[in-house]
Amino acid sequence: MSEYPNLLAPLDLGHVTLRNRVIMGSMHTGLEDRAKELPKLAAYFAERARGGVGLIVTGGYAPNRTGWLTPFSSKLTTRREARGHRIVTDAVHAEGGLIALQILHAGRYAYHPFSVSASALKAPINPFKPRALSDRGVRRQIAAYVDCAALAREGGYDGVEVMGSEGYFINQFLAERTNKRKDRWGGSAENRRRLAVEIVRGIRERVGPDFLIIYRLSMADLVEGGQDWDEVVALGKEIEAAGASIINTGIGWHEARVPTIVTSVPRAAFTSITASFRPHVQIPVVTSNRINLPQVGEEVLARGDADLISMARPFLADPEWVLKATTGRADEINVCIACNQACLDHVFAKRHASCMVNPRAARETELVLLPTRRTRRIAVVGAGPAGLSAAVTAAERGHEVELFEADNELGGQFGIARRIPGKEEFAETIRYYERRLELTGVKVHLGHRAVATDLEGFDEIILATGVVPRIPSIPGIDHEKVLSYVDVVRHGRPVGKTVAVIGAGGIGVDVSEFLTTVDSPTLDLAAWKAEWGVTDPRTAPGALTKPHPEASPRQVYLLQRKPGKVGAGLGKTTGWVHRAALKSKRVEQLTGVNYERIDDEGLHLTFGPNHENPRVLAVDTIVICAGQEPVRDLATPTTHLIGGADLATELDAKRAILQGTELAATL
Ligand code: FAD
Ligand code: NAP
Ligand code: SF4
Repeated sequence: MSEYPNLLAPLDLGHVTLRNRVIMGSMHTGLEDRAKELPKLAAYFAERARGGVGLIVTGGYAPNRTGWLTPFSSKLTTRREARGHRIVTDAVHAEGGLIALQILHAGRYAYHPFSVSASALKAPINPFKPRALSDRGVRRQIAAYVDCAALAREGGYDGVEVMGSEGYFINQFLAERTNKRKDRWGGSAENRRRLAVEIVRGIRERVGPDFLIIYRLSMADLVEGGQDWDEVVALGKEIEAAGASIINTGIGWHEARVPTIVTSVPRAAFTSITASFRPHVQIPVVTSNRINLPQVGEEVLARGDADLISMARPFLADPEWVLKATTGRADEINVCIACNQACLDHVFAKRHASCMVNPRAARETELVLLPTRRTRRIAVVGAGPAGLSAAVTAAERGHEVELFEADNELGGQFGIARRIPGKEEFAETIRYYERRLELTGVKVHLGHRAVATDLEGFDEIILATGVVPRIPSIPGIDHEKVLSYVDVVRHGRPVGKTVAVIGAGGIGVDVSEFLTTVDSPTLDLAAWKAEWGVTDPRTAPGALTKPHPEASPRQVYLLQRKPGKVGAGLGKTTGWVHRAALKSKRVEQLTGVNYERIDDEGLHLTFGPNHENPRVLAVDTIVICAGQEPVRDLATPTTHLIGGADLATELDAKRAILQGTELAATL
C-alpha cells in the first residue's frame, strides 16, 4: 500500500491516462527562447519525465509577436519552429512522459512597445502602455491561439495549456479592472469571458478530441477590480462546455500586492479556493501554489480539494520528486524552499533559470556528475551550504569524504536563516543534506573544529569555513547592549523593547522581521491571511480584504549608511514582500546615517557626509548586521576555497552551493 494513494493514482482522461496526479507546472527557464537551446530543454524535461511526473507543461510560448513577453522571447508561430520542438517531445515520450505546451500571451505585461490589451491601460509593473484591440484585432488574437495549438500538436505535444490567469492577456479581458470596453468583448461578465471561451472552443474544433486542453483559470485575482466568485464559476462552466480537458488554478496577478509563492506563504495556502470551485465542473481540476512535499500533495487530494496538483519549482529542485515518493524515499527529496533566488529572480534578470538547491537544474548537459575513475580521500571543513554540497557531490561520485564541522549542527549560517519567521522551509535543505550525507557514507565529525593536523594525509582539502559577522569599529561597540545577529537569532539572547539594527542588507532585514514577529515563527495560514488581507473569494471579489497584521512586540529602527532605499539588493521577486512586511510592522528605516558612538543613552547618529542633524536612538539593544568576514585560517596554497571562505562579499547560499557542487564535479 502506497503512502500516497491519492497522489499516485492514475487518471483516465479518455484518450490518454496520466500515470499519477502530479503535473509539472509551467516555469520559464529561458531555454525556450532560442532554437539552439532546445537540446538542453529536451534533456531538462527528459530528466523530469524519467523521474515519473504525470504530465509536464512547458514554459509559456507566445502565439504571436504582440504576445511576446519580451522582444524575441519564446513563441510558436511557424511550422519550422514546431518541427524544432520534436527533439523535446520525443525526449519526453521516450521516458514514458506526456508534455503540453503552454500558450502565453502577455497582453499588457509585454515588455515592448507593441503590446495589446482589452483597453489602453498601463500595468503598474510595466512602463509600456498597451494598444486597445479593435474587434478584428481580438479575433486575430483568437486565431493566433488556435494556430499555435495546432502547431503544438504538429510539434508532438500531447496538449496545450491556455494561460488564462496571473493577469496576462486573457485575464485582462476577464476583469473589469482592465477591460473598459463597450463592445461584445467588454461590459457584462458574459462579454468579458467571450475571449477565453472562444479561444478554447476554437482550439478544440481545430485539434479534435484526442488532445489535452488545460485552461489555467484565475480563481482569485488578488487585485482591486478582480472577478467576483459568480464570474469565476460561470467562466469555469463555459470553459468546460467549450471543450477543455482540465482546469488548472491560477492565483493572483503579477501586479497583486499579496505574495503567492514566496517562502513565507504557508504551504498549500490556496488549495481551499480550488476546493470551492471544484464542485461546479465535471472535468478534473488542478490545484497549485506552495505544494512542495508528497505529504502536502496527498493531504490536499485526500481532502478533495482537487483532482491533481501542479508544482513547477519543486521539479527544478528535484527531478526525481515523484520517483522518490513512489519508492518510499520521500525523505530523500531535495525540497524547493520557495526562495526564488535561482529561478524567478534569474528570469527577471534575463538569465537562465536554475535552482539554488539543485544547480544542475536546466544545466543537465553542462553540469554532469560522472563517477570518479580514481577514488581520493577528501577533507571538507565546514558544513554550511558550500561544504555540504561539496561533500555529498564528491562522495556521490565515489570519493572517500570526511566532513568537519565546529558546530554541533549542520547548516552554518543557513541554520540561522531557517530560524527567521517565514524562512522555516530552509530547514528542509539542511535535512536533505543530512540524509544525503548518510546515504553517500560521508564521515561527519560534528562539534569538531578542524586544525591543520586533522587535515594531514588527505589528497584534497576543501575549505568551506564560511564567514563570521563583521564587527564595525564604532566607539562603544563593546557596550553590553550590543549583540550580533548570531547572538539574537541563533542563541536567543534577550532583546529589549526598542532596538536599533545596524546594517540593512538581507540579514538586517531578516533580523528586523524576526524582532517584529510575535512569539515563535510558524507558517500559520490564518495569521498569514490576516496579515496580507486575503479572504474567501466567495465573499469578496478578487479574494481581497483589509489587512490586519499583528502588531510588533517592539519598536525597531533599521539603519544603513548608504542613501537610498533599504533592502535594495534583495531579490526582485522577494524584496517587495520584505519591504511590505517591514512597513506593516512600522519598522523605522533610517538611511544615510553615520554611527557616531554607543553609550548608556543609546546609539548616537548623524546624517549625511557633513555629519549633520545629530539624533540619539534611546534603544535598549543594538543588533549588528553589518556584513561578514571570511574565515580562512586553515588556507594553504593547495587547499580549495569555496563559499564565504572564498569570498564573503555578495555571498549567498546560491553561490555557496553552486561552488561546492562545481568544485566536487571536477575532483
Ligand atoms: P557558512 O554558512 O558560514 O558555513 C561555514 C561553516 O564552517 C560553519 O558551520 C562553521 O561552524 C564551520 N567552520 C568554520 N571553521 C571551521 C573549522 N576550522 N572546523 C570545522 N568547521 C568550521 N542566503 C541565501 O542565499 N538566501 C537567504 O535567504 C539567506 N538568508 C539568510 C538569513 C540569515 C539570518 C543569515 C544569517 C544568512 C542568510 N543567508 C541567506 C546567507 C547564507 O546562509 C550564507 O550565504 C551561506 O550559509 C554561506 O555558506 P558557507 O557554506 O560558505 O558558509
Ligand atoms: P550585506 O547584504 O552585504 O549587508 C551588510 C549591511 O551592513 C549593509 O547594509 C551595509 O550597508 C552595512 N555595513 C557594511 N559594512 C559596515 C560597517 N563597517 N559598519 C556598519 N555597517 C556596515 O550582508 P548581510 O546582510 O550580512 O547578508 C549576507 C549575505 O547573505 C548577503 O550577501 C545576502 O545575499 C545573503 N542573504 C540573502 C537574503 C535573501 O533574501 N536573498 C537574506 C539574507 C541574507 P551600509 O554600508 O550602507 O551601511
Ligand atoms: Fe525552489 Fe529556490 Fe530552487 Fe527556485 S531556486 S526552485 S524557489 S529552491
